[in-house]
Amino acid sequence: MIPAMPIPVDCPACNTRLRAPDGAAGMTLSCPRCQTPVPVPAAAGAPRAPSPPAPVPRPPSRPAPPAQHPPRSSPPERQARGPAPRRHDPTGNGCLTALAWLFALIALVGIVWLLLVPPG
Ligand SMILES: [Zn+2]
Repeated sequence: MIPAMPIPVDCPACNTRLRAPDGAAGMTLSCPRCQTPVPVPAAAGAPRAPSPPAPVPRPPSRPAPPAQHPPRSSPPERQARGPAPRRHDPTGNGCLTALAWLFALIALVGIVWLLLVPPG
């Protein structure tokens, strides 16, 4: 433990030597003789014990970036990908697409046929 050492302070008004207690370092004392406020310098050589500027630890508001991707999202994503294409089948959308493709193929074949075999 650091023994309480009085800090010698000279009153700027009357030059009276004050003995500020160690705990008064950095504070202002009133001169007992002329009542002039005398600022007490921080204890020279001694570390500031009374009020250490403790750095406030940052609260972990955001734990970690990977938290954005919880393990929950990955499994449903897989499932979503699976059933997604399946939906087209029962609704007949797949049939419609196949029909559209068939028509496109027929049209293409027809165009090619017309180009290759001009009538007349
Ligand atoms: Zn004084």
